[in-house]
Amino acid sequence: MTAIFSSPRLAALYLRISTFRTDLFVLYLGIAFLASCALGPDLFAQETKNMIASADPAATETGIQILKRGGNPVDAAIAVQAVLNVVEPQSSGIGGGCFLLFYDARTKQIIALDGREEAPRSARPELFLGKDGSPVPFYPDRITGGKAVGVPGCVKALYKAWRLYGSGKIAWRDLWGPAIELAENGFPVSARLAEAIQGEKDRLKLFAASREAFLNPDGTPKEKGALLIQKDLAKTLRLLAKKGEKPFYEGPIAKDIVGAVNHSEVNPGQMEMKDLSEYEAPLRRPVSGTYRGFTLYSMPPPSSGGAVLIEALNLLEPFDPAGMKRKDPEFIHLFSEIQRLSFLDRGRFLGDPDFSEVPVGKLVSKDFAAERGSELASSQVLKGISPDKHGNTTTSHISIIDEEGNVLSMTTTIEHIFGCAMVVPGRGFVLNNELTDFDALPYLSDTGEPAPNRVEGARKPRKTSLDLPGSIGGKRPLSSMTPTMVFKNGKPWICVGSPGGTQIIGIVLNALVNLIDFGMTPEEALGSPRIINRTGPVEIEMSFFDDPAVTDRLERMGHEIIMRKPFGNAQLVMVRNAQTGELEGASDPRGEGKAEGF
Ligand code: GLU
Repeated sequence: MTAIFSSPRLAALYLRISTFRTDLFVLYLGIAFLASCALGPDLFAQETKNMIASADPAATETGIQILKRGGNPVDAAIAVQAVLNVVEPQSSGIGGGCFLLFYDARTKQIIALDGREEAPRSARPELFLGKDGSPVPFYPDRITGGKAVGVPGCVKALYKAWRLYGSGKIAWRDLWGPAIELAENGFPVSARLAEAIQGEKDRLKLFAASREAFLNPDGTPKEKGALLIQKDLAKTLRLLAKKGEKPFYEGPIAKDIVGAVNHSEVNPGQMEMKDLSEYEAPLRRPVSGTYRGFTLYSMPPPSSGGAVLIEALNLLEPFDPAGMKRKDPEFIHLFSEIQRLSFLDRGRFLGDPDFSEVPVGKLVSKDFAAERGSELASSQVLKGISPDKHGNTTTSHISIIDEEGNVLSMTTTIEHIFGCAMVVPGRGFVLNNELTDFDALPYLSDTGEPAPNRVEGARKPRKTSLDLPGSIGGKRPLSSMTPTMVFKNGKPWICVGSPGGTQIIGIVLNALVNLIDFGMTPEEALGSPRIINRTGPVEIEMSFFDDPAVTDRLERMGHEIIMRKPFGNAQLVMVRNAQTGELEGASDPRGEGKAEGF
């Protein structure tokens, strides 16, 4: 019956009616049929009150099953991450780190959980400088092998999230089953994964365990559609499912990570067991701000994401994008310049807040934006380049809202495509190259002052941690990951984030301005060509270039313009109707993901 009446309430109504008058029921049915023809098929569709958007349909589906079993977004995100590790091994996983934002509808609290990788104690500011004192070329040298590997934080953060914020209804070990099965029995390589293997095959070839995992026996890359079986990974996930975080940080997996890093075939690093066993995932206060009356929460340092996003929105607030078209050169100029200014401040001020003074409060204040924004009056391009940016990286994002109103936004990464390219022998997972998010030059190139984001192996007390303020930890490289939530009238509204290296902040900014200022639907907001500035040229996705008048005008204003292939893979869930809690969402059309709800 509920198959005919998708709402159980309608089915119950039928039962009551049919007890009395069958003829009346037939009449009701007739009216309902005519109404549904007139109003469309949505009339009886159940409202979507639980939704997940992730980079892979199997991962999304796994999370949905957890929610259906009574799990909350934290439980679901762990299961989603586990599957992503298997089907999107080039982007994220247990060998990497993550930032998780969670809004608990019951306590109305938002926490930021910092699972960022950190430098081992052996790291020195010169880590990525060559013999001549200049930075080692980024690709492929700097990012490949053990030297670039940060102490992974993902498992620690997920375990802590489950302990503190999980529903308590789903056992830790039950979150890993689908991922283990996919790793054990295999799945067809997707187009994106095939492209990633093809693109990184020369780096993967350098490591025996990586060759074995992702290349054919004759050394050719696994192609789209080939069955990818990862028995070692299945074994590792099974151990984590059974024993929790311990084997990863103190036990046999920790030993194998240290072995892989220190004996890697190229660029061996120096990691100790102590680096792993002392690793913590602190809770931090999210960075917050407002934009046109809505309240934003995003990731604080060691990510630059939240602070730079909010500064950029503050700079945009006095203007009226809604009165412009997205393709107007005037809008592109303005949108590019607010990003340029906030990105310049990223390079100058931001780093690990436990290692240097990071003026987040000032950067996200309206007063600061008013002062900084005076430079925007000119229609000329502002000057200034911040050092050491790189693109072409990959990561993953998970957005979830459930019917209780709990919200989770988590960005998770191993940094570059296939991280440092090294699979831990016998363990089947890829290690990150997150240390390359530190500035290779230990000083700022324009002023010569020490760069806040330089490499350091020192241990310091975690002064900005909410729950581990005195604990001693290592330095974390500055990230751009921007898991974000927006609230309307005190209630959750938008949950969004994306991969994209240092372009992430701009990608999230594009999505929010599209939703808030241009009133776009989720699909349109993610689908529109992106406009980014990371202090250099304006980076625009290709489709803008079908109109030479736009690019000519921008060039006359002094902009250098770079045409980019589509970038980013944003995942968005938002509340369509605050009264009913009905949700809508989208997965970036540039990727292979899925937003699904029930
Ligand atoms: N490692 C980057 C960061 O933390 C993320 C890489 C990416 O998104 O591609 O900002």
